[in-house]
Amino acid sequence: MMKPTKTVGEELRWATEQLRPRCGESARLEAEFLLTHVLQQTRLELYLRAQESVTPKQHAQLCKLVERRRRGEPLQYLLGHAEFFGCSLRLTPGVFIPRPETEELVALIVARSSTPPAHVLDLGTGSGAISIALARAWPESSFVAVDISPKALALARENARRNGVAERIRFVRSDWFSHISERFDLIVSNPPYVRRGYLERAPRELRYEPQGALDGGPEGLDALTEIIRESPAHLRPGGVLYLEIGSDQGSCVRRLLQETNAFGEIETLKDLTGQDRFARAVRSDYVAPGASL
Ligand code: GLN
Repeated sequence: MMKPTKTVGEELRWATEQLRPRCGESARLEAEFLLTHVLQQTRLELYLRAQESVTPKQHAQLCKLVERRRRGEPLQYLLGHAEFFGCSLRLTPGVFIPRPETEELVALIVARSSTPPAHVLDLGTGSGAISIALARAWPESSFVAVDISPKALALARENARRNGVAERIRFVRSDWFSHISERFDLIVSNPPYVRRGYLERAPRELRYEPQGALDGGPEGLDALTEIIRESPAHLRPGGVLYLEIGSDQGSCVRRLLQETNAFGEIETLKDLTGQDRFARAVRSDYVAPGASL
């Protein structure tokens, strides 16, 4: 005799318990996301149809996804999708998963820009998250988004198309500034800033992501140092640099910014958890002789 099929409600309870050891308090939410993905329904429909049965094929599909999530594969790779600042982004393994801190960075940039900057550079765009979100916030601005990874650039292009901003973002394969010769009114970057030593014993989820998007060298400062040194030459006077940084890198980053002799209004800003997470600096009109331009 065939085993009786389970209902949507039963599957949800089962998946939640399976995910508990890996996901803790977010087990229920993650189970809901996996089930909406398998059933192609909204979260509300899961509840409206809690008594309906799932097909054996759907059950098998859910089991596979739950098992992969239990082993540590990030939810966004399993769903192939992430939400970022109201934009829907496709996501595939090999491309960095946009984080809530970076949504805070976008919110901060939008709030602090009294007039939208005309020309914007996004260094290390990954899935395209920052450029796409800013392009939607600023319909008159043009963007250049760079990444060293062709896979990331292909996905970012697709995401820009899906969000209706492809004609205003030029995607360039570049190792930071290596293939960039223009000047901008705003440069933004969420570069790799994690200490290499930390990455080696980091939560399992991080190992599924491209290490090049996380590994900031021995102190986590390699990419930040290069970007800070080279930014002044690519910013118009009065142009602004925004960076996402590690919570213990605030004083080093302020010092690196000061050492260029090209920035004023240097500040570090905190994220919602109260930790240093962002840096902001404005390119001075006057640049001291010998500055690293
Ligand atoms: N905040 C990220 C993390 O800890 C790191 C992001 C980065 O290196 N840019 O996963």
